[in-house]
Amino acid sequence: MSDYNWCHGPNCHKRETTTRVRGVKGSKVLRTIKFAVSEYRANSMWKYFCDQTCMHDFIREHIEEFVQLHPRTECLETPIEVTKEVIEGHYGNYTNTKITRVDNG
Ligand SMILES: [Zn+2]
Repeated sequence: MSDYNWCHGPNCHKRETTTRVRGVKGSKVLRTIKFAVSEYRANSMWKYFCDQTCMHDFIREHIEEFVQLHPRTECLETPIEVTKEVIEGHYGNYTNTKITRVDNG
């Protein structure tokens, strides 16, 4: 694996920050950020993006492709138990509702 990645943000090279300026006077450009893939980045989505703005730009541009790859055609459910407990408070009683997952293997 490469030690460096180019940011995948579709507009990274258009964002006007001094960290993106490259080249010599007369032929300067804004360039996509290249970053070291640290251990932290390697184990997260940050191995693809320089920051949250670029990550959100990427999501906005590709969300329909993501959803087509991983469609949700029916709801999912998590079995739970709901218990209510009346608790004496400083200003009177109140009901505490507790939701507990039921481990069904
Ligand atoms: Zn970027």
